[in-house]
Amino acid sequence: PSADSTLLSVSKLTKTFGTFAACNGIDIDIRPGEIHALLGENGAGKSTLVKMLFGVLGPTSGQINWRGQPVRIASPGAARRLGIGMVFQHFSLFEALTVAENIALSMDPGISLNKISEEAAALSVSYGLPLDPKAHVADLSVGERQRIEIVRALLQNPQLIILDEPTSVLTPQEADRLFETLAKLKAEGRSVLYISHRLEEVQRICDRATVLRHGKVTGACDPRQETPASLARMMVGSDVAHV
Ligand code: ADP
Ligand code: MG
Repeated sequence: PSADSTLLSVSKLTKTFGTFAACNGIDIDIRPGEIHALLGENGAGKSTLVKMLFGVLGPTSGQINWRGQPVRIASPGAARRLGIGMVFQHFSLFEALTVAENIALSMDPGISLNKISEEAAALSVSYGLPLDPKAHVADLSVGERQRIEIVRALLQNPQLIILDEPTSVLTPQEADRLFETLAKLKAEGRSVLYISHRLEEVQRICDRATVLRHGKVTGACDPRQETPASLARMMVGSDVAHV
């Protein structure tokens, strides 16, 4: 694909911890308006990769291009300013604070709590993830807490939203609701980078998939054109064919 059909393009991205390469020369590109799966077993390097894309970890080497321009994403704030939002696997919410107060912590300090509450409530309803801005986080279920993280990301109007294993904490009903939200984001022309190790989900909702194993890309495909066995082989190696 040419540079102008690519929102985010990553080349040879590497992250080492000591002598261990959690990500080892990863190439991936994300197109506008696609739901792109990042698929791989535990420890494959998925979270490390997206932490580099969101400015949580600095790459050891490699290149990130955003809308065709080389970028250095030095912090989550820098990622948000570019138009990248992220929903982490482990939430960073203060239990004693309300929904709106938690959201305010990641917003421009000039914006009033009332305005944040109004916008968060409206946005949460329009994306099918209703939230009460006055509720205390301590009283909310894990699914509701994830909604806060999603709404917080959407308030920044991101072009790319990254979700790290979002369904691992959801009931099947909550997961279905999330998939409707992702379909709406896609219909709006936004891109989603969707991390999962669940093949059936990826085949159901994703347009493309990049598969990681031991920090390297082992396949890039349209998951709907693959069988569960062929995807599993990319994830765990060819030995699975004999299991
Ligand atoms: P995944 O999200 O695919 O399960 P991770 O990116 O979390 O995988 O981890 C990839 C590998 O890197 C794992 O072996 C993990 O133990 C290791 N790793 C991740 N973060 C660190 C760190 N901060 N220090 C050392 N090793 C790490
Ligand atoms: Mg992970």
